[in-house]
Amino acid sequence: MNRRYRKTIIAGNWKMNKNPAETKEFITQLKPHAARAKWCETVLCVPFIDIPAAVKAAKNTRVFIAAQNMHHESSGAYTGEVSGEMLVSLGVKYVVIGHSERRQYFGETEDTVSQKVRAALACGLRPIVCVGESMSQREKNLTLDYVRMQIKTVFWDVDPKDVKKVVVAYEPIWAIGTGKTATAQQADEVGRAIRECIREIYGARHARSVTILYGGSMNPKNAKELLAMPDVDGGLIGGASLQCDDFVQILDAADQ
Ligand code: PEP
Repeated sequence: MNRRYRKTIIAGNWKMNKNPAETKEFITQLKPHAARAKWCETVLCVPFIDIPAAVKAAKNTRVFIAAQNMHHESSGAYTGEVSGEMLVSLGVKYVVIGHSERRQYFGETEDTVSQKVRAALACGLRPIVCVGESMSQREKNLTLDYVRMQIKTVFWDVDPKDVKKVVVAYEPIWAIGTGKTATAQQADEVGRAIRECIREIYGARHARSVTILYGGSMNPKNAKELLAMPDVDGGLIGGASLQCDDFVQILDAADQ
């Protein structure tokens, strides 16, 4: 973490879990802990149907609400989709884009990710964009090349003034929901390569303003070590964000 130049963010990704009543209960429990955090912004990435309850429960707190996906058009004949403008109208501040589960099960590509990033920024949402390699890419020593390619696509046509609004989540696919975590050194090495790639495109000032999260089986036990690395500015947390006690322990580790 480097608090001088960029925000620390702890974001919980609930995936397809919790209903509005459970959302309200969780945020009521979380609120006092988030209020205590001096350095760290707390974000909850909730299912679409939970957004109104989440925004209401988080009103006047330091908890920000994110959606887990959006469509790149603002309206139109896209049955089943939700636009960035719709999310903004509900009070959503962040949106996850290109999570590996969306890429794996819903056909998202570098191209759709790039379109969505620009659409999110255009309507005032902060995208949390997920990148990361598969185990076979890591074994073939392709991790850094692959992630650099993803970063170039993510930032394609992004205006320099918007660069710091983009949050990058480095999520090695082999670590998501598997209980296998990248070592702190692995997470930091890729975080550093991501920042270097942004520096090559936009220069050092912009590069150091970007928050880079690590995601992949982060939990109360391993969070402190991961978050101590200079290019790990927070976490995107799946499984361990579903229990408020676990999530709060990670938040506390980030705020020390
Ligand atoms: C995620 O969903 O982005 C994630 C990192 O999940 P988990 O923490 O369960 O690995």
